[in-house]
Amino acid sequence: MITPNMHYAELKDSYLFYNIAQKTKAYLEANPDKRLYRMGIGDVSLPLCDAVIQSLHEAVDDQANKERFHGYMPECGAPFLREAIANYYGQRGVTLSADEVFVSSGASDELGDILDLFDKKSTALVMEPAYPAYVDANVIAGRQICHLASGRENGFLPQPDPSIQADLLYICSPNNPTGAVFSKEQLKAWVDYANQNGAIILFDAAYEAFIEDSTLPHSIFEIEGARTCAIEICSLSKTAGFTGTRLGYTVIPKDLVRNGMNLNEMWVRNRTTKTNGVSYIIQKGGAAVFTPEGQKQIHQNIQVYKNNAKILMEVLDQAGIWYCGGKNAPYIWMECPNGMGSWEFFDLLLREIQVVGTPGEGFGACGEGYFRFSTFGSPEDTKEAARRLAKLLQK
Ligand code: PLP
Repeated sequence: MITPNMHYAELKDSYLFYNIAQKTKAYLEANPDKRLYRMGIGDVSLPLCDAVIQSLHEAVDDQANKERFHGYMPECGAPFLREAIANYYGQRGVTLSADEVFVSSGASDELGDILDLFDKKSTALVMEPAYPAYVDANVIAGRQICHLASGRENGFLPQPDPSIQADLLYICSPNNPTGAVFSKEQLKAWVDYANQNGAIILFDAAYEAFIEDSTLPHSIFEIEGARTCAIEICSLSKTAGFTGTRLGYTVIPKDLVRNGMNLNEMWVRNRTTKTNGVSYIIQKGGAAVFTPEGQKQIHQNIQVYKNNAKILMEVLDQAGIWYCGGKNAPYIWMECPNGMGSWEFFDLLLREIQVVGTPGEGFGACGEGYFRFSTFGSPEDTKEAARRLAKLLQK
């Protein structure tokens, strides 16, 4: 009899979103006249921008034309998109060759698949609170996990210390759930740690486009030394509304070598074995994001979410509540008032003002006592939620 991967039995049930769904369902059943203001969602609410839609339409027409039709796409990505992404990095002073960029169907897929590159005996370091996929993907692979807690004292931006012994270092900046962003100096400390210890950083840049402070790095490759110790995983999901369209990219520098093995070459081998590439139509749509018009339009959408963040931050400022995020990220991570627990605060918001957020505890034990608001909702709902929150916090 075949033995399944028994590590699945070690996965902790993800109670977070299940519990939220159960609690909101029960509340609505008991209070059918009420409506909810959902500030917990990590999905976008605005549609794809015009430049992308136009490019998608053109690509569909290409597929109906004998001369312009595309069959299988190159496994690592269409050259036109790999070039466009490399140029995007170039605009920020990061030099990449197009074959260091791999087109993917999104960051979630890559965060799981990329683990093929590493020995199962390596240890993964997850800085918490964290996006849950980092831990789960490594549990499934049977890898040991080292949990590094962070807190208000370090602004939820932990720094390396000599006691840490890990091979794969997850860094998410701007962070989900905290919205905190590492400075160049703080990232340099992790790059130095990785280079000194032969470790590799998996840098999740899914929210880079939300950074507005020009001193903050969008990419790990803005940091000297990163080409020999980092892989960057990015997504167009939040940047350009591709959550349902699916497109992302991964950067693996050719200088990334461990034990005589070149990780860029290994990933080419992996992709050519395990995928037949991303759809031509979607890649064409994605390429429009990197044109000047596409950039202008996606930033108009991002601005809508930023305005939502501003409205919520004003409420918290006025109430004197500590928070991080919001300015350079689509998430606001607030301390629950009066020492409340995160589920206690969740229940209070649901019961008293019908606002639904995400309890911090769901992102790791050190998230207890904190609460996440997402800014991806509609401006109308955000305004009403903010008005209700302000009133509640005054009490
Ligand atoms: N990484 C982080 C930090 C995220 O928050 C998300 C989605 O919420 C992802 C990756 C996944 O993105 P994608 O939609 O490209 O799979």
